[in-house]
Amino acid sequence: MNFIQWLTIITFCGLYLLVFFKFKTKTPEGILGHLLFLVFCAGCAGFFVWISAIPEGALCTLLFVGLGLAPLVVKFFNIIEDTSVLTKKEIKNRVTGQISRFLKDDSNFSRPVFLDYAQMLFLKTHYSITDEKKIKEVEPYFEYDLKKLPQTVYSHVVVENAEITDIKYEGGKCNVSVDFSAYFAAKYKQTVFHCKAVEVWKFSRKAGTLSSVPNGFGVIRCPKCGGFLSFEDYGRCPRCGTNQNYEAGQWVVSEVRRPSESIRQIFPEKALAEYNDETKQPLPSIVSGLLKNKEHDFYKIQNYKFMNFRDFENRVAKPYFKKIYKNFSDKEWNKTRHLIYENLWQNMNLQLLQYKDLGYKRTISDLEVTETETVSYERDNFYQSLTVRIFAECYDYVINYEDGIIGGSNREKRHFSQYWKFVSAIGYSGKFTAPECCPNCGKKAEDVDNSGLCPYCMTRVNDGSFSWILFSVTEDKDYCG
Ligand SMILES: [Zn+2]
Ligand SMILES: [Zn+2]
Repeated sequence: MNFIQWLTIITFCGLYLLVFFKFKTKTPEGILGHLLFLVFCAGCAGFFVWISAIPEGALCTLLFVGLGLAPLVVKFFNIIEDTSVLTKKEIKNRVTGQISRFLKDDSNFSRPVFLDYAQMLFLKTHYSITDEKKIKEVEPYFEYDLKKLPQTVYSHVVVENAEITDIKYEGGKCNVSVDFSAYFAAKYKQTVFHCKAVEVWKFSRKAGTLSSVPNGFGVIRCPKCGGFLSFEDYGRCPRCGTNQNYEAGQWVVSEVRRPSESIRQIFPEKALAEYNDETKQPLPSIVSGLLKNKEHDFYKIQNYKFMNFRDFENRVAKPYFKKIYKNFSDKEWNKTRHLIYENLWQNMNLQLLQYKDLGYKRTISDLEVTETETVSYERDNFYQSLTVRIFAECYDYVINYEDGIIGGSNREKRHFSQYWKFVSAIGYSGKFTAPECCPNCGKKAEDVDNSGLCPYCMTRVNDGSFSWILFSVTEDKDYCG
């Protein structure tokens, strides 16, 4: 064999091995993709070894390997990337890398603020879909045909989890995919149907756009002037008159998918009184890498308000946890409003209403936090998030007035753990950390009315600008880092 023939064999072997190790796949389509690529590489190598025996063939081989293969490889990488299924952990790691790269292009981007915008749009759209007037309020934020969404009147939509799962540049566009795990209740001919489903929304924006400087949650920001919009502005900025659309640099929804395998019908009578088997050994904690190195960064960024993670656990995580569960059990849910991110608060409020509708009463008593462990700390230029795994025990049971206890127990304690994620603006301005106080004025913030404002200083204090707020709660079996 001559030199060119050896080169051909080594090139195709190398190419195949590169693909094999770069793309881990777990689906039948992915494995078939790998197999086809193996056949393709072997075929090409054989063909070129054969043709390289004559001088013109050898030249042709060199040209082909050098020029023709490069775009083909790029294309193939894209196909395999789409068909391979990554585990939740792999997705999480990929997104962490994608976000830190994305922050170099858009230093004003903030994950919690983006997720807040995404959730607002998600909820508003699902509640307005059949209302001709209201749907006009969200239309400007859609490139996707709204008629393709399920035209169902939902009585309840609860977002249980919203996560960025991919960030990609495609032909001058930047696309961000968000997975919403949500709970839907719809009434159909006097019967209410409940289901859980995952919806994947793709948000698109012109590549190279700079976000407005973040400033709290619950508002839409104009990309031109940074002004605040609400849905009632019908997509027109009241400050500068810019129409909010793709051209103006706004994030618009370009695709919505609801994978059929994610849809699951549920029965709330069962789900609300059901307890997972928690008798087994608790799962080991999932701690993000480099956490130890971040502790000093955290200490400095707080302007020395907290000595270390342990100090945060004792002064924020534990007291919040106890107070939130107590108020949930006592049905004094308004007393927690200043501690919890608005959409999460509304979600848990809907859950309480469901207990009431069914005639159930859930009681949580003798709650004790047995252990806490900080597992993750992340920040961008404006917001920081800290996740603490909290271990606790309590009596936890559901009573139906006719049948007595229908779930849980009042004699045996329940042992459980959850991952609580707290978020705040970097350099938040509130001085008060006691969970019963308004972080802004320090008075008892327990009579918040439906507007969500502190009754004394008339400020919205649950958007992370004044203090740490609870942003999400994840069961230990669902947490993936
Ligand atoms: Zn504007
Ligand atoms: Zn206040």
